[in-house]
Amino acid sequence: MNGEQATPVERATLIASLTELPASTADWARLPAEAEVVEIRADLLAAPTLEQPVERLRSLCAGRKLLFTLRSAAEGGGCHRSIARRRELLIAAAQAGYDWVDIEADRDLTPELLDHVAARQRLLSWHGPPQTLDRLRRRFERMAAVEARLYKLIPAARRSGEELVPLTLLHALGRRDVVAFASGPAGLWSRLVAPRLGAAVVYGATGFGPPAAAGQPTVEALCRDYGLPEQRPIERLFGVVGNPVAHSLSPRLHNGGYRALDVPALYLPFHATAFGDFWLNVVESSALPSFGLPLLGLSVTAPFKDAALAVAAGSSPLAKLIGAANTLVFDQGVHAEHGWSAEATDPQGVAGPLAARGVALDGRAAVVVGAGGAGRSAVVALRQAGAEVTLANRGEERGRRAAEDLQVGFVPLAALDLSRYSVVVHATPVGRPAAAAAPGGEAVPVNSELPFGLSALAAGSVVVDLVYGQVPTALVRGVRERGLLAIDGREVLLHQALAQFRAMTGKELPLELGRQLLALDR
Ligand code: NAP
Repeated sequence: MNGEQATPVERATLIASLTELPASTADWARLPAEAEVVEIRADLLAAPTLEQPVERLRSLCAGRKLLFTLRSAAEGGGCHRSIARRRELLIAAAQAGYDWVDIEADRDLTPELLDHVAARQRLLSWHGPPQTLDRLRRRFERMAAVEARLYKLIPAARRSGEELVPLTLLHALGRRDVVAFASGPAGLWSRLVAPRLGAAVVYGATGFGPPAAAGQPTVEALCRDYGLPEQRPIERLFGVVGNPVAHSLSPRLHNGGYRALDVPALYLPFHATAFGDFWLNVVESSALPSFGLPLLGLSVTAPFKDAALAVAAGSSPLAKLIGAANTLVFDQGVHAEHGWSAEATDPQGVAGPLAARGVALDGRAAVVVGAGGAGRSAVVALRQAGAEVTLANRGEERGRRAAEDLQVGFVPLAALDLSRYSVVVHATPVGRPAAAAAPGGEAVPVNSELPFGLSALAAGSVVVDLVYGQVPTALVRGVRERGLLAIDGREVLLHQALAQFRAMTGKELPLELGRQLLALDR
């Protein structure tokens, strides 16, 4: 099937995983409407599930299909019982009326169990370490000798590129009864591409209990950020690469724009521990083009902005000046010898919201806190607008070097006197919310840390926070409580994305649509 456009399932079936049973009928009613199946992770629940009559569970789940899973500790689950006891419980679940029962190919396939769990109830699974394609294919062939409703193969991805193995298997098989993706943060994007290659189901967390697997997005995020369960036609991929990326709102913004403007593309979160591995094993691999889904553009976030500049065949003068790139676009144009060109749109992220609010910068004293790619971009943006810029950084050596390169003043963060500035840009990761899930799937801010004390802020000051969460950060809230203007990092994200969106799709992302997608009124 090399080079062919993959045939996706038309509509994926979403499975909502419960690692904790909702406490009340009202909580059960908050299960995401888009999920057609509810997975009871009996290995992770505190209470014994088989004492709950299936009909009662089914009615609490509003008639959805029920999947019983008792993942063994050997496959990364929470079930430490003997193999014999596990099999008894699986048989009991099948007899109690669960629609599907997850049975593990490596330990559950006894004649007795197969007699009691009907083929239509069997979700035959395997979870394990990274695999070569040959090994995974042989494993699938052994599993396929047993009749089942669905075959599920989940190898881990420990380094970038390993997540392509299950996707390549899916593509080669071209079946609708196989689900394969990679577990772990690097595998996150493979969960989202798998239905494009025929995997019929996608698992999502619910916020009732912790996610059943590291890197599992909530059902709400699958729908809102990636448009599931529908599968719009797509011809190319874009994405954001960083570490971490699971918290990024870029997929929501770009995919929302694609849906509204009918761009046949999907924007993915690429978690990488080493940029070089990601570049060689994913970007330069022939796998994605062979699926008919070439990767044609990347947003780049911390800590890879310097590395991104190094891999591009061509880069803009602005990216060279900053020494970092946040955008890589594959371009057949004359400037890109090997196709990839680097651009820096972060300065626009700072300049855009200030200009949109009519904040004049000419001659104003401004300080940028943080000397990474984002801080250096902010320095360039403010200086271009005529501000007198000082750079403040925790680490003196790095800060002084960046200030010298950009020809602005430097002050160690410990000696920063905010009262001397009327424009303050915060460009360190301090205050970044942990991506925790709450019932209903919303990530909640749990970080109330401030990067600096606010009492010295002068009247009339404006503060730009590059850090963002689903709702305003502690810094933004604190500044607003003082009656001062604070620019939310989501607004910075939106403005730096405008040029990225244009470079990747050739279309304009309407500002108002972006504000809605990022819930900027909250
Ligand atoms: P980076 O290259 O990792 O730079 C980190 C900077 O933060 C360094 O100057 C570092 O100082 C400082 N820092 C780190 N931890 C600190 C701490 N605990 N206390 C004080 N300073 C600390 O990252 P970056 O790419 O510049 O990004 C910085 C932040 O801006 C990130 O949170 C990123 O997500 C955010 N950002 C947001 C947008 C947006 O669109 N909203 C765009 C770009 C960046 P040392 O030199 O002392 O280590």
